[in-house]
Amino acid sequence: MTELIHMKDNYTRRFEAEITEVLDGGVVLNRTAFYPLGGGVGDDKGMIIADKKYNVVGTKWQDGKAIHLIEDTTGLRVGMTVNGEIEWGRRYKLMRNHTSAHLLEAMVFNKTGALIGSGNVSVDKGYLGFTLENMDKELIEQAVKDANKLIEKGAPVKIYFMDRKTALADKDMVKLATKLPPEVKELRIVEIEGIERQACGGPHIADISEIGKIEIVKMDNKGKNNRRLYYRAV
Ligand SMILES: [Zn+2]
Repeated sequence: MTELIHMKDNYTRRFEAEITEVLDGGVVLNRTAFYPLGGGVGDDKGMIIADKKYNVVGTKWQDGKAIHLIEDTTGLRVGMTVNGEIEWGRRYKLMRNHTSAHLLEAMVFNKTGALIGSGNVSVDKGYLGFTLENMDKELIEQAVKDANKLIEKGAPVKIYFMDRKTALADKDMVKLATKLPPEVKELRIVEIEGIERQACGGPHIADISEIGKIEIVKMDNKGKNNRRLYYRAV
C-alpha cells in the first residue's frame, strides 16, 4: 500500500521515497505526494528525480498502489531512493477548483435543495451536475454570489478522520457512512468550518479565501438529473 501524503498534508510538493516496483511505463513508490485516486478530481503530474529527471505524465491508483506514469523508466530500480516533485501550479488550481465544488454544493443545496448527481474537477474548470426539476439560472447565480461572499470573508478547511462507528452515530454523517462499503473503516472528513462537511479523499486548500473568486463558465441543461454548472476559481 502506498502511503498517500496528501491525505494529511495537501501542501507537500517535494518528498523523498523508495521505489517498490518498476513497471512497464511507470513506477510504484512506498509513499507519495502525487494524487492518484481519481474520483472526479484530476491527478498529478510532475517529476521523479534520481540520477536524472523523469517526467511523470500522470498518476493512477491500482490495488492499493500509486503508479507514477513514466514513459521510459530505464535507470530506475527497486530499492532506489528518489525525490518526487509535483507540478504545483496544476495541483494548486485543482485544489482551488475542488474546494470550490464543496462550497458551491452547499450553496446550491441551501437555495434549491438540489443534490449532486455528478461532478468533475479539472485544472481549468469544474462542473457539478445537480438533480433539479427545473434549472433556475437566477437561483444558481445567487448561489455563486453567496459563495463569493463567504470566500471574501474566508473560512478554514479542516481535514480529520472519523471512524465508521462514530460516523454512524452522527446524523450528518450517517447517510454517507452507510453508503460506503463496510471495508472502509475510517472516513476522511473535509470540513469548511461552519459551512459544510463531507467525506472526501481529494486534495484541498487550507482556507476558502485561497479560491479568490468563483466565476460561472456556463450552465448546461442535460436533463432533470443533470443540470450542470461549470465554474472556475479565478
Ligand atoms: Zn472533495
